[in-house]
Amino acid sequence: MHSADLFARAQAVIPGGVHSPVRAFRNVGAEPFYVQSAHGSHLRTFDGVDLIDWVGSWGPMILGHAHPSVANSIRATLESGTSFGACSLPEVELSEEICRRNPWVEKVRLVSSGTEATMSALRLARGFTGRSAFIKFRGCYHGHADSFLVAAGSGALTHGHPSSPGVTADTAKDTLVAEFNDLDSVRAAFQSRPGDISCIFVEPIPGNMGLILPEPGFLEGLRLLCDEHGALLVLDEVMTGFRVGPSGAAGRLNIRPDLATYGKIIGGGLPLAAFGGRRDIMDRLSPLGPVYQAGTLSGNPLACAAGLALLRELTPEVYLRLETLGARLEQAIQAGIQGKPLQFQRIGSMATLFFHNGPVRTFADVDACDKEAFSRFFRLLLEKGHFLPPAQFEAFFVSTSHTEQEIDRLATDAIACAVAALS
Ligand SMILES: *Cc1c(COP(=O)(O)O)cnc(C)c1O
Repeated sequence: MHSADLFARAQAVIPGGVHSPVRAFRNVGAEPFYVQSAHGSHLRTFDGVDLIDWVGSWGPMILGHAHPSVANSIRATLESGTSFGACSLPEVELSEEICRRNPWVEKVRLVSSGTEATMSALRLARGFTGRSAFIKFRGCYHGHADSFLVAAGSGALTHGHPSSPGVTADTAKDTLVAEFNDLDSVRAAFQSRPGDISCIFVEPIPGNMGLILPEPGFLEGLRLLCDEHGALLVLDEVMTGFRVGPSGAAGRLNIRPDLATYGKIIGGGLPLAAFGGRRDIMDRLSPLGPVYQAGTLSGNPLACAAGLALLRELTPEVYLRLETLGARLEQAIQAGIQGKPLQFQRIGSMATLFFHNGPVRTFADVDACDKEAFSRFFRLLLEKGHFLPPAQFEAFFVSTSHTEQEIDRLATDAIACAVAALS
């Protein structure tokens, strides 16, 4: 049984053969491989190929695949049942751990996906403020709830329009799309709907248009604008939470959100996400308040046990190790791409190699990247045994299971493949 056979079977019963579109490898002109097993930093495919994994399930595998603590915790919990639809211990312990590590999270509610977390946080922000509109940024991803699948309108100041069929114009009109790293565009959005902006929703360090860093003063400016207009600041830390530091981007960059969303790492590789924040806002949720939100599998004991085991492993030494590995990779790649139309951006253990001349700081910069060259780069690197995200608009991840040798190998191979892809 090979990947090609499985993909053929999959395409007969699953749209595009995949349960999440990026897995189809369409952006990079390749066919997907099927994973047979994963341990540490390695994936083994059904074709018998061994790959070094730099995707890490898009974030959760910060300690590598099948980490013994996580696997043992899942195994032990499994023995006592997998779902009760009633209260259990792991949900309390995980919630305490999330609040302990993120002081601005005074109360938290667990859900099953990042999409559910952001959707619920948005409803809560609207319910709390009694306002309809909100501001998001072009290129930031907040899952696939209708309100977020909205692109900028034709004029920079107009309200958004649906970016997917099935999202109604009525829904999209309450989503205002501003430019990341451009406070003027945010001011303009506030002015276009006076007194009706419930919140700003932002990836504090965007990873979903490739890794973009917030410029000094930008996030601080968002905080001030929210305070000035009585809007809430919602940091979407589904990717950056527990990744760029023990208390995410908020802790690393010292920005205090009113609400924050988490996912990926906090489930330890099982379906789990969360939203939380100020007590007075969170207490507006049902059953204390009128804002409705619920979930049959919310706080699932297996997922909570996996997440808790993972979070307990994330010590200061782990973050130091990730920083060291990330810096080593950056140094090697920067040295090799000097003078070429390539740009490497990194924070901690998140990074992107852009096919772009000069710094990538806005969505327009990302959009101007050479995506054809990126496709060739992805395929060449895959042949050399590295699995990188199959799209230019993504960040890749270093885990503690990567060795110095693997970091050096990625640097050497990435430089060679990028240069080959350019010509
Ligand atoms: C992955 C991601 C989401 C969506 O999470 P899902 O679990 O895929 O629904 C939302 N926001 C950010 C910033 C993400 O990286």
